[in-house]
Formats: sequence, structure tokens, C-alpha cells
Amino acid sequence: MHPFLLASANDAATAIAAHAADPDLAYIAGGTDLIGLMKDRAALPKRLLDINTLPDMARIEALPDGGLRIGALARMSDVAAHPDVRRRFPVIAEALLFAASGQLRNMASMGGNIMQRTRCAYFRDEDDLPCNKRRPGSGCSALHGLNRNHAIFGWSEACVATNPSDVAVALAALDATVAVRGLAGERTIPFTGFYRLPGETPERDNVLGRGDLIVSIEVPAGAEGRASHYLKIRDRQSYEFAVVSAAAAVAVDGRRIRSARLALGGVAHKPWRLTAAEVALRSASLGDIEALKSALATSFTDARPLAHNAFKVELAQRVALRALQAAGARA
Ligand SMILES: Cc1cc2nc3c(=O)[nH]c(=O)nc-3n(C[C@H](O)[C@H](O)[C@H](O)COP(=O)(O)OP(=O)(O)OC[C@H]3O[C@@H](n4cnc5c(N)ncnc54)[C@H](O)[C@@H]3O)c2cc1C
Ligand code: SF4
Repeated sequence: MHPFLLASANDAATAIAAHAADPDLAYIAGGTDLIGLMKDRAALPKRLLDINTLPDMARIEALPDGGLRIGALARMSDVAAHPDVRRRFPVIAEALLFAASGQLRNMASMGGNIMQRTRCAYFRDEDDLPCNKRRPGSGCSALHGLNRNHAIFGWSEACVATNPSDVAVALAALDATVAVRGLAGERTIPFTGFYRLPGETPERDNVLGRGDLIVSIEVPAGAEGRASHYLKIRDRQSYEFAVVSAAAAVAVDGRRIRSARLALGGVAHKPWRLTAAEVALRSASLGDIEALKSALATSFTDARPLAHNAFKVELAQRVALRALQAAGARA
């Protein structure tokens, strides 16, 4: 195991200053991803700063307008069990409960969850195979290698990895925002702009910089929240990452869709919003399966499957359809 020093953060401002000044320092929350990366030598921080001691960052608050604020240190299991989360945004509770295991969810924080790194085996493996995310400039072994679990949207020749977080898919569908505190103060980042596409710099997963500390995640109120559902397809029924997943949230007039929000997991470097389909679904009847299918298909014209994952194009459309129908049944 890579040796490191461990210290506890006393207050957010000092933690942020320390992180900004020291490129070999990493925040640690539950440690369920970071310690694994250190064991695999995919992350080698010399200093860990335990942020669990920071005050007021584990709170889950139901906002008076119907929204929700989730502290970055709130544990996945606490968020999934929270009555207001379950009632207002079932898609969030479901995405969390389909993730990892009970023990991991008790330990893992929401901030750590949305920061977790890809499960691409070439990135996680200790072998010295080329991986631009692990060693920039070395190449991408998955591009022409084993890429069944990789992206069908938005990838580049430099990286075809997918984002592994389930709850990020739900949060992207709900237009959540991430509150981040950095050296220059606090800012709010829309969830849809939080993650990056790989481009030429796949080593950067998101838009955060040195010093940035995720403080909370805010979910806006919306008629679609209650009628929402998360569907995850995986190779085994528990303790497994998504092959493909979908988060759907709808508002309806009778059986007609007034507005729909849809995001896919397991298909891109970030949760993939189906914006064209969301437009095409307006006024469609939930009972008209053919209309729903052709509306969903509008978001797949730019799908670019790799050698081993063409099946995801059809699978993702079916998963999105089923998630949409299940969300609609709650309306
Ligand atoms: C066997 C296994 C199976 C899993 N299955 C799933 C699954 O099916 N679905 C799923 O979604 N996840 C899954 N996970 C991932 C799990 O959800 C994450 O490991 C966990 O959420 C990370 O949270 P943490 O608090 O432990 O983060 P840590 O490991 O402590 O940190 C992870 C990263 O986030 C950074 N970080 C943490 N908090 C902050 C903050 N507030 N601000 C800025 N940076 C921060 C750290 O510096 C680090 O880089 C699985 C993990 C394991 C080990
Ligand atoms: S897909 Fe990305 S993470 Fe996987 S080997 Fe290629 S560069 Fe590395």
C-alpha cells in the first residue's frame, strides 16, 4: 500500500487553502473509492485530509418550496432512507439503493459518490497497459480492446470510459446543482455541466479545480419529481455497476406527457441527458408505445457504439422506455 499521512480538517476555509496549495493532498470522506484507487495505484496522494469533521455538511433538508438540499457528507444510506427524498424524489432513493452494498452505502458520502472515478478495468488495473486517464499521453487500451462496458455517446479517441455513479444519473435528470466552495468563494454548478466529456484531456472527470470542496447538492422542486423512477440493468442483480441505466421523471395532464426528463447511465463519460427525446415526448400519450419509442429514438441518432457494445443502443432505448412508463404510472 502506498504510504500517506492522514490529518483531519478543522474548518472548511483551512481545508480549501490546504488543498489548493498542495497537489499531493486529497480530501477523503467515506474512503470507499479513494482507498481502492490507492490500492490499485491509480491515485497516489501523499496526504489525505479527512473532511468528515467539517460541520453542517451531512444535513438533508427538505426546502419549503418543495426542493431538497443534500449535504456532501450525507451518507448514501441516510439519503435513500430519508422520508422527504423518498416522497419528493423517488428516483434519487432508487438510484442510491441500487448502488454498491448496504455496508458501502453506510460509509459512502454523496460528495464522494459524484466524484468517484470510472470502473474501466484498464484504468483500475495495476498492469502497465496504456490508459490516458491514468497516465496522460499513454493511449487508450479500451478503444480497440475490451469495450463492452464503455461509452456509446460523446467519447473521443483518447478515452471511451463511462461514469459509474447511479445517483448522478438521477440528479442530472432532475436538473440538480452542485454547491462548491473554493478559494474565490462559493459557486453553483448545474449538474449537467459538472462532468466533462473526455476530449483530449480524459484525466479530468469534471470541472472542479484545486481547492474546490463540494458542500451540497440541491434538487429543485418540480412537478416531475414525484413521478420519477430509476431503472438499472446490470450483469448480476446486486453489488454491480450499471451496464445501462435510466432515470425518468414526468409531469402529465391525464395520460399526456406535459414534460419529461430523461438521463442515461453507463453510456457516456457523464450522465447522458436525452434532450431531443424530451422535446419529442411533449404531448405524447403514455399509452402510445410506438409514439414513445419513436420519440426516444430521436436521441440515438448520434450514438456511436464500439466493437463490443452495439447492444447498448437498443438496450438503452428499452431501459429508457420502461423507466418512463414506470415514472408515468406514479403520476
Ligand atoms: C465494490 C463497490 C461497488 C460499488 N457499486 C456502486 C454502484 O453500483 N453504483 C454507484 O453509484 N457507486 C458504486 N460504488 C461506488 C461508491 O458509491 C463510491 O465509492 C462512494 O460513493 C464514494 O464515496 P466516499 O465518501 O467513500 O468517497 P471517497 O472515497 O472518500 O472519495 C472519493 C473522491 O471524492 C473526493 N471527495 C469526497 N468528498 C468530496 C467533497 N465534499 N468535495 C470534493 N471532493 C470530494 C475525494 O477526494 C476522492 O477523490 C461502489 C463501490 C465499491 C467499492
Ligand atoms: S477508456 Fe479511458 S479510462 Fe479506459 S483505458 Fe481508455 S483512457 Fe483509460
